[in-house]
Parts: sequence; C-alpha cells; structure tokens
Amino acid sequence: MRSVIVVGGGISGLAAAWQLRGHADVTVLESHTKVGGKLRTGTIAGISVDEGAESLMSLRPEAVELAAAVGLGNALCDPAASPTTVWTHGALRPLPPGHVMGVPTDPAALAGTGLLSAEGIARIAAEEGLPAEPLTEDLSVGAYLGARFGREAVDRLVEPLLGGVYAGRADRLSLRAAMPRIAALAEQGGPLLPALRRMKAAGAPRSGAVAVQGVAGGTGRFPQAVARACGARILTGTTARSLQRLPGDRWRVLAMTADGPLTMEADAVVLALPAFAAAELLRPHAPLAEAELAAIPHASTAVITMAFSRPQAHFLPEGNGFLVPPVDGHLLKAASFLSNKWAWLHDAAPATFVLRASIGRIGEDELLSRPDRHLIRAAIAELHRAVGPMGEPLAARVTRWDRGLPQYGVGHRERVARIREAASKLPGLALCGAAYEGVGVAACVATGRAAARRVAVPA
Ligand SMILES: Cc1cc2nc3c(=O)[nH]c(=O)nc-3n(C[C@H](O)[C@H](O)[C@H](O)COP(=O)(O)OP(=O)(O)OC[C@H]3O[C@@H](n4cnc5c(N)ncnc54)[C@H](O)[C@@H]3O)c2cc1C
Repeated sequence: MRSVIVVGGGISGLAAAWQLRGHADVTVLESHTKVGGKLRTGTIAGISVDEGAESLMSLRPEAVELAAAVGLGNALCDPAASPTTVWTHGALRPLPPGHVMGVPTDPAALAGTGLLSAEGIARIAAEEGLPAEPLTEDLSVGAYLGARFGREAVDRLVEPLLGGVYAGRADRLSLRAAMPRIAALAEQGGPLLPALRRMKAAGAPRSGAVAVQGVAGGTGRFPQAVARACGARILTGTTARSLQRLPGDRWRVLAMTADGPLTMEADAVVLALPAFAAAELLRPHAPLAEAELAAIPHASTAVITMAFSRPQAHFLPEGNGFLVPPVDGHLLKAASFLSNKWAWLHDAAPATFVLRASIGRIGEDELLSRPDRHLIRAAIAELHRAVGPMGEPLAARVTRWDRGLPQYGVGHRERVARIREAASKLPGLALCGAAYEGVGVAACVATGRAAARRVAVPA
C-alpha cells in the first residue's frame, strides 16, 4: 500500500486522510494537542461552544456530505430562521432577502430599512442602465461593485458580509476569488441586477432551506469524527519542521514532538497547512511556490465568547446576531447570538444565554494587540450600544486566531495557479487548505479530497 503523510490536522488534512482510506497507509501530523484547526469546540460556563467556525455551508455539499458520512448526519441542524442583520446608522437593520453576499437584487426592498440613503438606493437601481462590457480582468470587490452600485452599497451592504467571511476589506479582496458567482456574471457582460435576479430565481433554494448548517454539540465534533472514521494514524503534538526529497520520488518529514525529533518517510506528502506554514516547508524544494505562498496576506481575528445568566440579564437580544460595516467605526465586526441561533445550545443550557462577538479585520492588528480584559470590556460596551444593556456576563473568554484567515487579494486565482504549477513539479506532493480555492469549510474539504486524489497513485 502507498504511504502518505498528511501534514496538518485541520479539516482540509482530515478530508484528505478520509479520501485516502483503504487506498493508502496514512499518517496525519498535527502540531496542536487536538485535531481540528479552526474547527474547535471549547467550554464556557460549562457549556460546549464553538470557538472558531460555527457553521458549514449547506448549499455547497462537500462539508455536510462528509459530516453525514462520518456519522454526524443526525447532528446536522439548521440555524433559527432570521434575516442577516447589519448594525449601522445606530440601529440593527435586517437586509432584505434576495441579496448575494450583500449585493441586492431588489433595490426597492431597501426603502425604509434605514440601511442606505434614498440616493444610495437610487444609485443601485440605476445599475440596470449602466453600460456593462464583459469584465476581462480581476478587480477588487470594492472597485467593481462600487462602479456598478455606488460606494454606499459597498460600504453598508457588502463590507459587513466580507468582514464576516474573510475578515477582509472590499478594496483589497479579489472579485474573482472572493465573489466568484458575481465575477462569473460580470465576465458575461450586461447589467448585474437582472443577471443576479435570474441567478437567484434559477437557483433559489426550496422554501425554508438555509445556506448553512451547524453540528449539535459544536462543529468541533466534525474533525474529531473524520479523524476517527478515516482510519489514519494521527500524531498530535507533532510539528513538521522540514521536508526532504528522497530517491524514487519519496519524501522524508522531519518533525518535532514533546519527546524529541521524529523522522518519517512516505511515498507522498499532503501539505494541509496555512499558506505561511506550507511556504516554510517548500522553501528548499519550490522557491517560486514558497514566495507566492508567503505573499498571501492573512487577517488575524479574535472571538469573544460570553455567557449571561438569563434570569439576571437586564435584557436579551432577539435574532441570530448582526454584522458591522467598518465605515461606522465600531470595534465589533460581528456578533452571533448562539443561544438564539442554535436550538441545541439553548436546549443544553436553557438558563444561560451565550453569544460571541468577533473583532479584527485585515489591518486591525493594533486592536488585537490589546489584552483580553480590554477586548472583553470593549465588546460588552459595544454590545450594549447595539442591542441594549445586557448586564455583566457570568463568564467571558477571548480566543485569538492569529493569521487565521487568508486574504484573497486581486489576482489570487492566478497566484494559486502559479503555486499549483510549481508544486506539480514535485512528484508525490500535494497542497490543500484554506489558502487556495475558498476559506469556507466546504471548500477546504473539497481541496483536501482533491489533494488526496493527486497523491493516491504514483506520479
Ligand atoms: C474565527 C473563524 C471563524 C470561522 N467561521 C467559519 C464558519 O462559520 N464557516 C466556515 O465555513 N468557515 C469558517 N471559517 C473558516 C474555516 O474554519 C477555515 O478556513 C478552515 O477550517 C481551515 O481549515 P484548514 O484545515 O485548511 O486549516 P486549519 O484549520 O488552519 O488547519 C491547519 C492545521 O495545521 C496545523 N499545523 C500548522 N503548522 C503545522 C506543522 N508545521 N506541522 C503540523 N501541523 C501543523 C495547525 O495546528 C492546524 O490544526 C472560520 C475561520 C475562523 C478563523
């Protein structure tokens, strides 16, 4: 049987290990004490809550299908029905349904929401009358959508969504890589509004269907279940330090563990790592790939989880939470009212209200350099302004995700093509993870499985 070492035990690496089950003898090296990477469930006030990703996209099948395949089908659950809400102009304001990543399909539905001025709404409606040559180059989301719909729409509707998914900014993220569905329409030419309406009508999910699903007990259960089901040897607390190419297209991995160095050899290696970590290992073997990977910027974020005693709280918010546009100058990027959003969490702890606030977009490192207690106080103060005076939490915890989210800048897809081309010259080596074709869990599962297919047979 072919032997494969998967470096990185996040969901991408575990999906690769799953894909290889029965076809290869697989070892997963994970530097942390537990597998899962950004899918991590911890406890606060004795309650299990997600500290990283809290949902899996369900319109794209890869993550929910894998979760079902590893025995979590019954644990998959829909969030409570609630509109996406933006905290802007001093109030929580629901986005009208029908938007695509914040880009509206029905400008008239924005009237009366308080999200945009009358001029801003008229500017969106005017998009249908603007000339629209097919887009032939990659542009930033802000440059393209700003020219089509006006800056106000970018600032108040699109930026909050980009902050939520990428911790990124519209003027830096690539339209092609961060909003591929909209880029595909732009490349066809013609006004976007009617094209978006047609796209929505053609692909409209059945009534009541949701775009994401959670895992009862926390999405952190998902990587654990994949790790158990894939049959791979999982070595936690093991950090790969370097790679060596051996004769016969084999690989040697030099790793460090708490007990000292560890050397392993295999027919193939899958690097399921953040871009900067993959860059380190590739430096001696593919300098071009190393340079391109190292050039991918990353945003750091922090998740502040808080538990309130329901009987003692002055006030508890309704809805699933809110997103925040940076233009309003608030610290918060988003808040998720977990006890409202996930029935399993409410049922597990009915006397407690759990929420999480997120802070940190690209370029906000000064904010994140502040101590935990400062971030907690600042988050509470802003939550009080946004939703009302909830009182003091029973418990609060800050989880920091240093360089947690890769930023798909303008030209990202071409950069990834160059990385993949350079890596393809290394037989028996494949790359996967959030740095390449999507940061969401479903996209990561897809890259993991594709990487496994690339190394499953000898080159
Ligand atoms: C706060 C936050 C919230 C998010 N929310 C969502 C969400 O709700 N829905 C969604 O779809 N996506 C969400 N995402 C994005 C998504 O969770 C990640 O993009 C995805 O989980 C990345 O998986 P990965 O396996 O590619 O990388 P990682 O999860 O980063 O896994 C890489 C693993 O490699 C290990 N490692 C690193 N270096 C080495 C080494 N040298 N040797 C051995 N091991 C090493 C790390 O410890 C880590 O476990 C969120 C991300 C963050 C940060």
